[in-house]
Amino acid sequence: MKNIVYTVEHPDDETLWVGGTISALNESEEYNVYVLCLWGLLEAPDEFREECFYKATANCKKSYIFTRGSHGDHPIEIGLKNMGLAPADVDLMITHPPYGDEHQHPHHKIVYHESKNWGSQHGVPVGSFSFFAMPFRYKQIAMHAKRLGQLHLLNLFKVERTTVNEEYNFFPNYYVQFLVDMQHKNEMLEKYHSIDFNKHKEGYYAWTSNCEGYYLTDAGLEVMNDLIESMPTPTNSENLYSKYHNGL
Ligand SMILES: [Zn+2]
Repeated sequence: MKNIVYTVEHPDDETLWVGGTISALNESEEYNVYVLCLWGLLEAPDEFREECFYKATANCKKSYIFTRGSHGDHPIEIGLKNMGLAPADVDLMITHPPYGDEHQHPHHKIVYHESKNWGSQHGVPVGSFSFFAMPFRYKQIAMHAKRLGQLHLLNLFKVERTTVNEEYNFFPNYYVQFLVDMQHKNEMLEKYHSIDFNKHKEGYYAWTSNCEGYYLTDAGLEVMNDLIESMPTPTNSENLYSKYHNGL
């Protein structure tokens, strides 16, 4: 079993950006999914929204909201401890992208940096979800069309490093996109009675998007690869491109 920890800022971020893949990972026998919400790091939590978060993440192995700490407490350490994890138990941490998602929320950016720093201190790979592809140079390396239930592998791109990576100070090796089961994502979203449903639906591209993407390092892809490998190739697309080396 591999342990994936999602670190997010607000209760609902996990559902909005990656609810579909969290649901798919929960169904897989290869993974334990943990969701750590660091809300109390930067904002004052409200109890009703906390309750919604625990309902939305009920199918995960464990979830936890960091609500407040004393001076010197490290919110990620506290969160992991409360979920029964030591740093060495974490195979992959996934968090917000450095640009702070579609509204470029400054608190999302802070959680990205907190997670990244924690990961480099403990030698744990850290990836970022990203609802939209950043303007990097990509090479498609997914050679087969794969699908598991309603989960489709849409793209697996190698990020070819250019000066744009330096401009953004962001150096992932891969970008993978899945088409997810909207029903599962919607079931999670519906748990959030505490937020203004219609306002969020209008204001967030990701609310109605069935595409979820991740920037990963080599080590991060290795962890995610069990999921990708477990996805069957329907029809005979095993040979989709391999026989065309001499031209189509
Ligand atoms: Zn948020």
